[in-house]
Amino acid sequence: MSFKNLNLIEPVMKALTAEGYTIPTPIQQQAIPYILEGRDLQGCAQTGTGKTAAFAIPIIQLLQQHKQQRSGIKVLVLTPTRELAIQIDESFAAYGRFTPVRHTVIFGGVSQLHQTNALRKGVDVLIATPGRLLDLIGQGYIDLRSLGIFVLDEADRMLDMGFIHDVKKVMTHLPAKRQTLFFSATMAPEIQKLANALLVHPAKVEVTPPSTTVEKIEQSLYHTNKNDKPGLLIHLLEQEDIRNALVFTRTKHGADKVVKLLLRANIQAAAIHGNKSQNARQAALNNFKNGNLRILVATDIAARGIDIDELTHVFNYDLPDVPETYVHRIGRTGRAGNAGTAIAFCDSEERDELRAIERLIGIKVPVIEAHPFPSLVSPPSPKPPVTEKKRPVNQQRYKPKARMMR
Ligand code: AMP
Repeated sequence: MSFKNLNLIEPVMKALTAEGYTIPTPIQQQAIPYILEGRDLQGCAQTGTGKTAAFAIPIIQLLQQHKQQRSGIKVLVLTPTRELAIQIDESFAAYGRFTPVRHTVIFGGVSQLHQTNALRKGVDVLIATPGRLLDLIGQGYIDLRSLGIFVLDEADRMLDMGFIHDVKKVMTHLPAKRQTLFFSATMAPEIQKLANALLVHPAKVEVTPPSTTVEKIEQSLYHTNKNDKPGLLIHLLEQEDIRNALVFTRTKHGADKVVKLLLRANIQAAAIHGNKSQNARQAALNNFKNGNLRILVATDIAARGIDIDELTHVFNYDLPDVPETYVHRIGRTGRAGNAGTAIAFCDSEERDELRAIERLIGIKVPVIEAHPFPSLVSPPSPKPPVTEKKRPVNQQRYKPKARMMR
């Protein structure tokens, strides 16, 4: 099946082509038609299955088709963390880039001024974490009376993080007549109860994510210092037998910096991120795919949709804030039956992120002690990670909370 079979409008198709998407993922194949019909939806799917696009694409299309009449916020996407909120906002930007759909993201921990300014200008799609949303509703900046679609993302994580009361409070602000899309990786009884309270005759879709070969990936970790990361990367690229590598950095600026340093060391590299023109991104990607470019440095968002069967190495130059992202990143290698190697750098400020990753994957990533750029802050003594149960990594990726499944 291709996206062409999903009756998507031209501006959306054009954006998908620009993203390099041709085949909808299973959750997209199943969910998009129901959402376009206006049905409520209960989706059991985890991050990494393409669920963001599964709701963002049809929402953009519905907004385009019913260019309405009513002003005010038409869609609310509620998600538990700031990182997810930003990723969802970026997805709306990417898939809606050829439409006039206006979207903005709000989350706590930062000044609200920028957010309230954006709200004042008017938005169609609001992506929010619960605390800041309730805060701004309380202050009178947000009115949800014209809302037509409500998306609850990562409901199970919302519960795990103790946001259930906030979610219930948000529910009291929603119009009764609306379309609701509910996504959760697991459907434990209390999550089902929440779904029942929100949904009316929902269509139900569930995806078992494609099994990956993550267990085949050889992972290793280097404790080092922030300033030594470039030196360590260059050292490894010079020493090791690395045919090609995708290097993940946290920021666009970081990606550019790494490329500059690699070029200075005579290592061919290019960066892809949102600040590069579409042509530059495509050229870098093509060169990388056809073997003319050895090193591609990318941010997570820019690397979306990059699928290269023969990628031998993935570097986590910076550790991601969201542990699942680590699994997505390393899953770029080891595809199509090939072996793969994932190398992570961890500076002294990233140890919490490392702990979260190891908790998620259920193993301690083997540490390489002998290298020329050791951490000046001694790494924590090697204790086993806190895990409930050791599972194969591939199952961890998709079912970290499998015990909760019915
Ligand atoms: P998500 O589950 O929403 O976090 O998405 C996981 C990743 O898959 C993201 O990097 C998306 O950009 C990417 N993705 C989503 N849908 C597609 C598709 N149809 N084709 C290729 N990549 C996709």
